Amino acid sequence: MTKSSAAIHPADPHSAAQAIPWHSLELSAVLARVDVDPGRGLSDAQARKQQERFGKNELKAKQGRSRLWMFLIQFKNPLLYILLIAGVVKAFMGSWIEAGVITGVAVLNALIAFAQESKAESAIKALASSVTTEAMVRRNGEMQKLPSSELVPGDLVLLASGDKVPADIRLVTSRSLQVNESGLTGESVAVEKDADANELDPDVPLGDRINMAYAGSFITFGQAEGVVVETGQSTETGRISTLMDESSALTTPLTRKFERFSNLLLRVILGIAIFTFIVGLAWGNTPFDMFQAAVALAVSAIPEGLPAVVTITLAIGVSRMAERHAIVRNLPAVETLGSATIICSDKTGTLTENEMTVQALYAGDHRYQLVGDGYAPKGALLDAEDEPMDITQLPVPVRDCLLAGVLCNDSELAHENKIWSIVGDPTEGALLVSGRKVGLDRAQLAETHPRLDSIPFESEYQYMATLNQMPNSAGGVIWMKGSVESLLKRSNSILDSQGRAHPINKERLQQQADRMASKGLRVLAFAQKSKASTTIDHDDLASGLVFLGLQGMIDPPRSEAIQSIRAFHSAGVDVKMITGDHKVTAEAIADRMNLSQQETTTAFSGQELSDLDKNDFVHAALEGSVFARVVPEQKLRLVQALQSRGHIVAMTGDGVNDAPALKQADIGIAMGITGTEVAKEAADMVLTDDNFASIEAAVEEGRNVFQNLMKALAFLLPVNGGLAASVFLSVMLGRGQSLPIQPLQVLWINMIISITMTIPIAFEPKPYDLMERPPRSPQQPLLSRPLLVRIALISTLNLIFIFGVFAWIRDSSGDLALARTMAIQTLVTGLVIYLFSLSQFWASLVARLRGRQVALGNVSRIGFGIFAAFLLQVMFSQWRVMNLLFETTPMTANQWLTCFGLATPMLLVALLANRWPVNWVPPQRTVSGAG
Ligand code: ADP
Ligand code: MG
Repeated sequence: MTKSSAAIHPADPHSAAQAIPWHSLELSAVLARVDVDPGRGLSDAQARKQQERFGKNELKAKQGRSRLWMFLIQFKNPLLYILLIAGVVKAFMGSWIEAGVITGVAVLNALIAFAQESKAESAIKALASSVTTEAMVRRNGEMQKLPSSELVPGDLVLLASGDKVPADIRLVTSRSLQVNESGLTGESVAVEKDADANELDPDVPLGDRINMAYAGSFITFGQAEGVVVETGQSTETGRISTLMDESSALTTPLTRKFERFSNLLLRVILGIAIFTFIVGLAWGNTPFDMFQAAVALAVSAIPEGLPAVVTITLAIGVSRMAERHAIVRNLPAVETLGSATIICSDKTGTLTENEMTVQALYAGDHRYQLVGDGYAPKGALLDAEDEPMDITQLPVPVRDCLLAGVLCNDSELAHENKIWSIVGDPTEGALLVSGRKVGLDRAQLAETHPRLDSIPFESEYQYMATLNQMPNSAGGVIWMKGSVESLLKRSNSILDSQGRAHPINKERLQQQADRMASKGLRVLAFAQKSKASTTIDHDDLASGLVFLGLQGMIDPPRSEAIQSIRAFHSAGVDVKMITGDHKVTAEAIADRMNLSQQETTTAFSGQELSDLDKNDFVHAALEGSVFARVVPEQKLRLVQALQSRGHIVAMTGDGVNDAPALKQADIGIAMGITGTEVAKEAADMVLTDDNFASIEAAVEEGRNVFQNLMKALAFLLPVNGGLAASVFLSVMLGRGQSLPIQPLQVLWINMIISITMTIPIAFEPKPYDLMERPPRSPQQPLLSRPLLVRIALISTLNLIFIFGVFAWIRDSSGDLALARTMAIQTLVTGLVIYLFSLSQFWASLVARLRGRQVALGNVSRIGFGIFAAFLLQVMFSQWRVMNLLFETTPMTANQWLTCFGLATPMLLVALLANRWPVNWVPPQRTVSGAG
């Protein structure tokens, strides 16, 4: 029995065991099985039926951690261990209320952490899935773009270089197709595929099934059309792979730093707690009292609000970036962004509008000007006397130059609601418009000059070609457009104004091209060649072209990009332009955008770079601000060169071959609109609007994330410092039996503080001078020296509040409960003041007083937090239930005012502390500038 007999079984979506060996079937058999007309594709009705049967084309996500588990895992927290142990001990000792409250608080703490964490996690998850892939599908006889999840067996799909294969596909036609299947086979080299391969053995391994393209692999070269045979879980990926892992663990280098810090802190605290216990016993205290004291100390010293703040701050950063068109695919990028020292950006479409308009034309040894703006085909081609010319007046090379632009073109001009726009590549759109201005209409030409074959544009070749049937002639003509260099290289003659071919003067043409480029125009060259057959390949274009002429188009710089460049410069970040365009054009645009911070713009072409040795290359990478006609491999080398000098590099990319550079860069940025799936997959971040300004927004948000984390540290740690120090001091002084603060009260304070005061810090608006500071050093320790000074300062004051107020009231009234209550109220009042001094609102206010016009920033969150804290504090001492649970006591109005008054020194200390700003440390470069 042969394996192919399995093919007789009907396709059964529910049984994974019966795999159909699609690769070994005849193409006609495949098409018959999935019941599709290869010319028209499925009808909508058919597609719907198929979807009912096979479901959506999606991989089942791995079951996320269950909610219960996520909740339980919150108890894996040393603070809670201590609490629970304390609770059990209390229960044994018969203090039921206390035991109950401790357990209640422990559960509440876990609940809060759980709620915050799951909210942050689902926000990030939602973002990750917002980047969906689409596929070009033939349905009802028309090509349309559909989300990949809509594909069903039988759909005819178009695949082009850069695409992610959306399902398992049997190829119908293919042209020099290469596919990277590393996800399936582990083989990192792309394999060549061939639709015409037939009668493959059913047993050939997956890597050799060259007439198939499998879901999850990438098209690295060429084009193909194929029919979907398996979708979703029945694809090879679905079958072999472990289910798609959707875990979005919130870990980054920074969170790990925080974790290590917490662990260290915990050990130190436990050590001190044990020490306290022993010293207390030596003072003659009972073990019971000392157990109380040790628990109070441990509970007060551990910053339990910290993990939640880190998570939330990161999550807020991610969603703020998303609002500003930067989708983070890789969480650590949020941090790295804030440290970026160099941004390497594409030119076309990112720094520029990508709204091209042809303005200059050169053909038949004459220069012409085109008038009219944007994509509206209104305007004209002017002759030397500035008179508009129509098609009948045009010299042959001028007409053919424009004709080449229209025929050798895959884009479409659209007119909707009186607005002209482009479907496709803006470069090509401009050429459709320039043709229309003399009356060359693409739709008409498609009838009279039907296309026989084509070679699509690829950055490596820098040209595109089509073969068209010519009217009243038997043979076809190849029409070509591309970069000036690539076409000049292949041409040996040129048309004069009478349409006669002459030997070509390449120098003269290059001069004309440079002339256009130096005005910042993007220059495309055009050529033709006769060809008798009905197909073309790259070999046909190697030589013997007839050069037609040049068209130069403007691509205005984005005004917001110019502003962003300025912002980056003041933020100590260099911007470099990397482009496939011509050096002279790139330089002209760079000058117009003030890209370089030097007097003059230093530009290198890919050719020049390739002649440099390793040292000179690094030098060039540092010095240059424009890199033109670079090939993807050079992008990778540029990133490496910059990184070798200690730079943190962000690099944009959109093509298939940009993936290595995107991966190498500290922050790889892919274009959401024009970028290929390959580039998006390799990137850390995707720009949904392809706009350079969005990179600046992301860097800003990245910096703010870090700023807010520092604020959280600066706020939280002194609370723990002050509380722990006061317990420690009491025991050391032999007053361990009447601590200034009880374990449960510490718990209360910790909770109030983390909920009402720390969370608002995570939402703090950006400092007005955020982009006026140098980038942050990634090596910076969690606690920098200024931060330590500040923490010590505020901790000391907090200690004085608790210890001092407690001692004073105890001695004057003899009421321990009142002394503790007032100490706590003073502490919290002080914290409110301190929180306010850390806020952006305060900083802006100070800046205003110094005469700087800055926005005050949103203070509502902190205001709300303070209000909530106040309400809770009133409850804490005035409500009988709370008195019972926390051993507090109601205070008189006078006592309240006393507490408020006693806290006012915080105002002065906070002012003093602002001399050690909560900032980051700029990086130390190994070598700055060129060595
Ligand atoms: P960039 O978009 O950064 O300018 P590309 O690699 O896309 O770089 O383009 C490189 C060169 O190829 C361009 O300068 C232009 O001369 C040429 N080119 C660009 N788009 C097309 C196209 N659709 N058809 C033919 N040639 C093109
Ligand atoms: Mg381009």
